[in-house]
Amino acid sequence: MRSVDLFEKLASSTWQRIFHAKQHKVSQGEETITDLNLLEISMAKCPEVTIIKTDSKRIESCQGTDWEWWIGNSRIGYLRYAVQAKKIDTKFTNYKSLGHKVDSEQQIDILERYSRSNRAIPLYCFYNYSEYTNLTPYWHCNLPLDTMQLGCTVTPLKNVQKALQQRGKRTFDFLHNLYDTKPWRCLVYCPSLLQVYASRTAIHTSWGFGDVFVYPRLPENLSDAIETNSTFRLFNDLSNRFYSSDDEFYREGNYPKRILVADYLGENF
Ligand SMILES: [Zn+2]
Repeated sequence: MRSVDLFEKLASSTWQRIFHAKQHKVSQGEETITDLNLLEISMAKCPEVTIIKTDSKRIESCQGTDWEWWIGNSRIGYLRYAVQAKKIDTKFTNYKSLGHKVDSEQQIDILERYSRSNRAIPLYCFYNYSEYTNLTPYWHCNLPLDTMQLGCTVTPLKNVQKALQQRGKRTFDFLHNLYDTKPWRCLVYCPSLLQVYASRTAIHTSWGFGDVFVYPRLPENLSDAIETNSTFRLFNDLSNRFYSSDDEFYREGNYPKRILVADYLGENF
């Protein structure tokens, strides 16, 4: 299984899960969906996607960031994303907790600050299901429309900023009308990203990330974690490694709960 296959599988199962949750009136929060996706990733044993669990005692310091994703490969380098997940409210097709505050600070500001000080791209990840009959206006991938791939989408932080600044815009409709909101599998697959890796900027591409930093390689402690735990690499506690090293990669001494490392496949596409 390739990374893109796993990302696509998770998007369609997320779409279906939210649909069933609505049908059966058993609501699933974004934390639950994230946990279920992590379980699926773990069980898939896909060599191209690894999850590293960090020291959970430090979570509090970093509540604007659910995940950190490192996507790329040794030839083109890696992009680093700081990711906050949000689940759709199917009744209103909006995202209620988009303006969530942590200790009176906007979550979005924490995400932005973390990204800036860690040279990561701030990203929102949406978990969706929609009954709209025509989803074409919300499809911004060059590949053919595949409705269930809208189950997991990503958008740059600036789009969420826009949504928060205006009344009534915290919606699926507003955020998915924007051309730089895309299925998350695009991050590991779509060739338009190659330009971002090559030019280190996404201002004039369809991605809207602004200037980006391309890491030539994975940080040592991450690649170490992947290699030395080849059998038990998923969900291992690597707290000691993180404590002892790498201010270069984890400034301010904090980091998210989980780090996902995935191979980018676009160049073979
Ligand atoms: Zn795409």
